Amino acid sequence: MAGYPIGVRKLFDEALDLFRQSVRKVVETEIVPRYAKWEEQGEVSREAWLDAGRRGWLCPEAPEEYGGAGQNLLSTVVLTEELYYAGVPGFFIPLHNGIVYPYLERHANEEQKRRWVPGCVSGEKILALAMTEPGYGSDIAHLRTRARREGDHYLVDGSKTFISNGQIADLFVVAVRTDPDADTPHRGISLLVVDANSPGFSRGRRLEKIGFHAQDTSEIFFEDCRVPAANLLGEEGQGFRYMMQSLQQERLVLSIGAVAAARGALDLTVDYVKTRQAFGQPLSKLQNTRFELAELATKVEVAQAFIDSLIERHLAGERIVKEVSMAKHFCTDTQFEVADRCLQLFGGYGYMREYPISRHFLDARVQRIYGGANEIMKELIARELGL
Ligand SMILES: Cc1cc2nc3c(=O)[nH]c(=O)nc-3n(C[C@H](O)[C@H](O)[C@H](O)COP(=O)(O)OP(=O)(O)OC[C@H]3O[C@@H](n4cnc5c(N)ncnc54)[C@H](O)[C@@H]3O)c2cc1C
Repeated sequence: MAGYPIGVRKLFDEALDLFRQSVRKVVETEIVPRYAKWEEQGEVSREAWLDAGRRGWLCPEAPEEYGGAGQNLLSTVVLTEELYYAGVPGFFIPLHNGIVYPYLERHANEEQKRRWVPGCVSGEKILALAMTEPGYGSDIAHLRTRARREGDHYLVDGSKTFISNGQIADLFVVAVRTDPDADTPHRGISLLVVDANSPGFSRGRRLEKIGFHAQDTSEIFFEDCRVPAANLLGEEGQGFRYMMQSLQQERLVLSIGAVAAARGALDLTVDYVKTRQAFGQPLSKLQNTRFELAELATKVEVAQAFIDSLIERHLAGERIVKEVSMAKHFCTDTQFEVADRCLQLFGGYGYMREYPISRHFLDARVQRIYGGANEIMKELIARELGL
């Protein structure tokens, strides 16, 4: 496989290129070989998370005083690209670093950061984000998990579903309804950080999915779950606003992964068609193969150029809600299309689980659903267009 391009994208300086090389080596030698076992077990081992922590891969954005390296998002971009490119996205470091940790970075107070962030950096505290409920996914403003204040605790009741890292996470950022009488539903939502050891918290079953098997997607339950009031993130009633603020980066990270996975599927296929013979010649000499791969490579490069421009604008602090919504649906649709059309070029072997292209295909499907379904992205774009 060609590997992710190094030294050609101006976003990445020499230090990040070196970091990418070291990440790639570990992904190839330590993560890819263990991945089939994690898929079988339905989760990534704790040991792998602790290893990642020792290598400085977890929350590199965290300030040094909490054990981090005080970097910007680009280290997480590198990790995301290398994991997705190699077809091992179920080791969901991008979720931990790029999607959940920012809630702590932006909204936790000093005391909370001291309590939580060092463990997030070391891998002792794996993070998850719990918004979705059985009855409310896209329509998140109407969520029903209730948190009632009682003295210096909240009592939480309700359930969440489809929660990534649900079986292994130690800390859950949970969207709860603290004020059922608020004038609009989204004003009554707050964010609580729930420790998995809290009384009244339980994990449901690990959900059986059609792909993304190394990811422990789960239900979680709260039954009079006692959460210290000191675990409230930011202000009560501001949870919906905080979630909306975070979605730009969440969707950007998922789009970055999508382009990387598409590139990985493409490179796998370019290698395969050069060696597989049909009618006395390699598949790569057939016009259909050449045109298919030429078209898909074009789409990947277009998506990459768009993503790189958005990473730059996001780092500059621009509001790019419309563009990130475009990227989320375009890049994840492209990822799925690339995986599907590449799999076709493998013929029957593409349908066999021992061929990594089959995993690319299966893992791609969910990307169009979570992080805001692609239909919701189109709604957001239409709204930004003034429709
Ligand atoms: C593997 C996996 C991991 C996940 N991880 C997490 C996680 O870590 N944390 C978390 O909180 N959630 C997670 N989710 C949940 C995910 O974000 C939701 O599944 C997603 O937001 C869609 O919600 P829903 O499943 O309830 O579908 P619904 O909201 O019921 O939507 C069903 C269909 O209707 C469409 N639709 C809904 N509303 C509209 C509308 N207004 N206009 C047009 N079409 C619409 C949707 O696009 C979709 O196609 C995960 C899901 C999966 C499958």
